[in-house]
Amino acid sequence: MTFSEEQIHRYSRQMILPGIGGKGQRKLSGAKVFVMGAGGLGSPAALYLAAAGVGTIGLADSDRVEVHNLQRQVLHRTCDVGLPKVESGKKTLESLNPEVKVQTYFERVTSSNIRKIIRDYDLVLDGSDNFPTRFLVNDACYFEGKTLISGAILRFEGQLATFKPHVNGPCYRCLISEPPPPGHIPSCQEAGVLGAVAGVIGLFQANEALKEILGIGQSMNGRFLLFDALGLSFTEVKIQKNPQCPLCGENPTIKELIDYEQVCPTQSSVSP
Ligand SMILES: [Zn+2]
Repeated sequence: MTFSEEQIHRYSRQMILPGIGGKGQRKLSGAKVFVMGAGGLGSPAALYLAAAGVGTIGLADSDRVEVHNLQRQVLHRTCDVGLPKVESGKKTLESLNPEVKVQTYFERVTSSNIRKIIRDYDLVLDGSDNFPTRFLVNDACYFEGKTLISGAILRFEGQLATFKPHVNGPCYRCLISEPPPPGHIPSCQEAGVLGAVAGVIGLFQANEALKEILGIGQSMNGRFLLFDALGLSFTEVKIQKNPQCPLCGENPTIKELIDYEQVCPTQSSVSP
C-alpha cells in the first residue's frame, strides 16, 4: 500500500515518530479494533483510533443517545439524542476520518453472538458499564485468543489493564474470579462519574491499542493501573496469571460463555 499526498499530510505528525513511519501507518490502516460500548470510554477511545487511521473500528452498543449521556460520551451531539449510539458514533467517526470503516452492532452482545463478532478483529477494547458484559467480553477474548484492553470508571476513579492470556498473561478472572453479587458495586447511574475521568481512561485504552498494533513501548499486559482524579495520582499493581483461575488456570471450570443476569434493567441505558 502506498500513501496518497492527502494521507501523508493527515498522518505526518505521527509518521515522523520513531517506531511508526510508513510501516507503522500501514499497520494502523490494516488494523481492526472492536470497541465494546459507544459510551464514556468507547467514545474517546474510538475518536482517537479513527483520528490515528485505524482502518476498521467495530462499535457495539444496544442503547440510544440520551441527554444525560452527553456529559461524557463525546461521540454524540445534542442533535443525536434518540439515535442509536452506534449510528451517531459512526457518523462522528466518519466525519473525523472518512478513510476509516466503521462496522456497527446495534444489538445486545450475548454468549450467542460475541465470539462470532470479535473473531474478525485484532483486538478488543472493553468500555462496558456492567459486570455481566465485562465477564462475557473477557471470556470471549480468552476463547478467541484476542488481546483485551479493559477500562472501568466510577465517580472520580478509573482503572486500566491489558489482558493477553494467549501469551501467558493473566485474564480478568485471574483478578476477580466471579462477578460481585448484584448491588455490591454501584453503577455510574447510581454513583455518578466525572466526564473527564472517562476521557482519561478511554484515551489510555486508545493509547494501549495503538501500542499493541504498532508493537511499540511497554504493554500493559499483567499490569493494573488505578487512577485517582481528585488526588491526580496513579497506582500500578502487577497482576500474575492465577493458576486457580476458573477460566485460564490449570484446571479450568469455565468451558463456555456465561450470560450473567443484568443487575438492573435500566443500568444498560447508562454506559460509563
Ligand atoms: Zn485467568
